[in-house]
Parts: sequence; structure tokens; C-alpha cells
Amino acid sequence: MARNQTADPAAWLSSMIKDHVDHSPQNSLQNKTNEKAFAEPLIGFCSGNDPLFDDYKQHVGPFHWTPLEIFALTFPEPTVTAEELTVISWILPQTPDTKSDNRKQTKWPSERWARARIYGEQFNETLRKHIVEILQKEGYEAVAPMLSPQWSRKESEQYGFASTWSERHAAYASGLGTFGLCDGLITPLGKAMRTGSVVARIRIPPTRRPYTDHHAYCPYFTQGICGKCIPRCPAGAITENGHDKNTCYKHTSVASKKYTKKQYNFEGRGCGLCQTNVPCESKIPTKEDVEAYP
Ligand code: SF4
Ligand code: SF4
Repeated sequence: MARNQTADPAAWLSSMIKDHVDHSPQNSLQNKTNEKAFAEPLIGFCSGNDPLFDDYKQHVGPFHWTPLEIFALTFPEPTVTAEELTVISWILPQTPDTKSDNRKQTKWPSERWARARIYGEQFNETLRKHIVEILQKEGYEAVAPMLSPQWSRKESEQYGFASTWSERHAAYASGLGTFGLCDGLITPLGKAMRTGSVVARIRIPPTRRPYTDHHAYCPYFTQGICGKCIPRCPAGAITENGHDKNTCYKHTSVASKKYTKKQYNFEGRGCGLCQTNVPCESKIPTKEDVEAYP
């Protein structure tokens, strides 16, 4: 099959992802004005052979797939080595209007945020499928781990509930950001975002990872300052010790679900208060950003 699109596969895939975010009608909050769910994405790549994926097995749990494992589950026939695989990861930033609305909230998600959580994530699914399709059309086997029928939630000894593939960990490996006190991924576009990935049999030079510490962008860990996400959480799920996933889940997926249905009249959920009105909302925060923050 022809592979004429891929002399510079990183540029080719980046432009395909950006083009889809820019032009797909499914990138929509599905509100009356049909606003976009996400602004321009950030894209990164890492090798299927990246040793971080073995580290994830130690930290998250042995069930967390390496790129080679999910690839071999999806394509049992071909013989492939981890070096031949690339993880393609993207960050979909929330729009300025969605962030502005959610900044004002004190307990529940704004309507735009709740719409981005549901309809935006539906678009993220179509983006994963779209990237798999265009790769396969060019002759590169590809899989979106989150869409694999074998993807599942698991219980991690250290982290509570986890899953066989974590989009945020794929983004971390792809140089796109590091974890904050509230567990969100702080990226150059901030933490108010959603993320996705595809594993493909294609060789692409990895994106430089400008960090070695998984908390490098959170000043709470690097400078002992900030912690602004702690009082933002209406459920008390964030403390100096980190993020309590179960408490967060009860608020975002049980209580907020009821609120969204009653208040906005659609089947939504979410929260994102710790991702907005905080210094890491839209950038990697500096000491000055934290100090300037109310
Ligand atoms: S609000 Fe501050 S402490 Fe919380 S994740 Fe962001 S930078 Fe870290
Ligand atoms: S998403 Fe909401 S409930 Fe969960 S930690 Fe953030 S602020 Fe708290």
C-alpha cells in the first residue's frame, strides 16, 4: 500500500490531527450555537520501546499495557518489535469560553464544561478512529487503546481504580506534560484539556521530554508553593497528600450527573473546578503566576 504521505510522518500526522480538530463538525459542544468543543491541539510522539511503559507497570499495576502489548492483542498475526511502534498523543484544550464559564463555578460544572465532558469526549473518540483509519489507509497498522474492546478498568494497589491504558500517561511519555497535585496533567496549554492517543506501527522520532520528574510542572512539588486546586475542589477530594479518586468520582460521575440532567437537561457529568481558576489552568505556571493568583 502507498506510503507517499509519510516522508515526514510527524508533520503529516500533526497536520491530520489539527485539520480534524479544526474542520470536523463533531468537534462541537452541541449547543444552540454549535460552538467548538476544543481549540487547537498539541501533539507529541514517543517510541513503543520507551522504558516509561515498563515503569507504569511498576507504579500503576502490571495490567497497564505497554504499546507492544496492546498492539499484539489487536494484531496477533504480524511479528512486530516495540521499536517499530510509536505512540501518537494529543492534548485538546478547552476553549476560552468554556474555561471562563467554569472559572466562575463553585460547586458544579458549567454547562459548557459538562458538554465538553460528554460531546467533546465523543469527538475525541472520533478523532482516535479517524487517526487509526488514515494510518491504516496508508498501510500502517494502528489501534486506539482506549477504544479496544479489551480496555478495562482495574484496581491498582497504589492508585485505587486505574485502567489498562492511561491517556495522561501516554501524553506524559510523549513529552506533553507532567502531573499536578490534583492528578491532572499540566501541559504547555494548561490542565483544562482532554487527551487521546493511538499506537501505530510507524517509526517517528520521539518528541523531546523536557522533564525527568513526573511533577516537574507543579510548583507545589517543585517549590512548595501553590496548592490552589485544594480549595477549588467542592468535594474535598484534593489535599496536601494528593487526589482522592473515589471522592472525586462520587462528585463528578454521580452527584454532577444528577445536577447536569436537572439543570441543563442532558445526560452529562464532570466538574473540572480544579482545572479552572488555578494557575495551571492554561499554562505551565511560574512562581509569579502562583503569587499573582487570587
Ligand atoms: S493548582 Fe497549583 S498545586 Fe494544584 S496542580 Fe495546579 S500548579 Fe499544582
Ligand atoms: S474534578 Fe472536581 S471533584 Fe474531582 S478533584 Fe477536581 S475539583 Fe474535585
